[in-house]
Amino acid sequence: MTWINWQVPPFVTSVFFVLGVLALYWLSINWITVLAHDWHVPFADEQIHRWYGVIYMLVFVFGIQTFVVGTNYSWQFMNFQIIGIIFCAYFLDIHVPYYFFVPIVLVYMLFNGSLTDWESWCHAVTLMLFFWSLNLFREHYQQHRIAPLIYMIIAVPFGGLLWFWMKLKFDFSWITFGQEWLYLVIFEVLLYVYVNLLTRESEFKQQLAQFASHDALTGTENYAAYSGSIQYLFNESRQHKLPLSMMMFDIDHFKHINDTYGHAAGDRVLQAVTETAQTVITANDTRVRLYRTGGEEFNVVLPGYDTETAEPMVRQIFDAVNHLQVTVETNQIELSISVGLCAMIVDDQTPIDFYQRVDQNLYYSKQHGRMQMTID
Ligand code: GH3
Ligand code: MG
Ligand code: MG
Repeated sequence: MTWINWQVPPFVTSVFFVLGVLALYWLSINWITVLAHDWHVPFADEQIHRWYGVIYMLVFVFGIQTFVVGTNYSWQFMNFQIIGIIFCAYFLDIHVPYYFFVPIVLVYMLFNGSLTDWESWCHAVTLMLFFWSLNLFREHYQQHRIAPLIYMIIAVPFGGLLWFWMKLKFDFSWITFGQEWLYLVIFEVLLYVYVNLLTRESEFKQQLAQFASHDALTGTENYAAYSGSIQYLFNESRQHKLPLSMMMFDIDHFKHINDTYGHAAGDRVLQAVTETAQTVITANDTRVRLYRTGGEEFNVVLPGYDTETAEPMVRQIFDAVNHLQVTVETNQIELSISVGLCAMIVDDQTPIDFYQRVDQNLYYSKQHGRMQMTID
């Protein structure tokens, strides 16, 4: 393949360029989100997505403009910039108030040396209206069947108007104007299709991740989530000498509940126990996590707590679940739980050592009449 044979029209290059920029965005944001999860960064995925999206697009818009700034063809990359703006406004759904917009536009115009051109001011105002319209229409129509149509109804005329101001400013031909506008429309369609495909794939992955880490019956986190989390907290606790406690509870005579009222009633009891324990935990401390680690066995991990500070919350869970009455059809099912509670000690070499000590305390409660708490 030689330079001479590789004669691709700029439009084709642009299509792949736009797709490449978006693909790189997707790859990098996925990587950043995974890192943020590994490091337990206290920001929601959505926040990370938005901040990274804005920074990425600003670098892209300004970066590409440096190649043409100050020339009489500085409009050349405008379609890429418009696509960047649509991406932020519509697909990342970033809401920018006017007092944020004004400095960005001013910096851009200063950078471009176009502060004194009236056409550039018209262009800037059109851009802001375009951005807000995309925000507004996304809010109202995103889930609607005609969402793609509405998107095009906004994106096509605004794109035309933006090119019209540039046509007046740079006085290029109407043919160039029409051509650029047409290219923009094609990019807008591509952007829509491409982002929707990627979003669907990432939603599917999120669903898979949710299934892998959560229990389908009770909706609480499962054993897989527990093992990942305890390993991290165990290491943190050792490294920074922070206390870490764990409560383990098991429903008493659960087999009897199943045998007497049926398996479906047993399932309902498991859901009620989870809801009750989770309500107590949420009211106390959202850092504390509940896991369904076995059939009718649950673990509560309390980072930052020793047995003394953990005991009041553990007792609240114990009391709340023991007072629970689950109504299934005409039956009022009563239940109790047995509890073990321990804090991590230096002799615990692995999370399993720690787990086994808590399990022994639970076993002690079972052996000594059930509906007991064993703490050390
Ligand atoms: P103990 O007081 O010693 O804990 O007695 P138990 O009957 O609670 O304990 P055992 O281990 O003998 O029985 C646990 C039962 O839990 C057996 C199993 O069928 C039931 N089980 C496990 N998972 C589920 C589930 O998802 N739904 C229902 N309904 N039952 C379950
Ligand atoms: Mg049991
Ligand atoms: Mg059990």
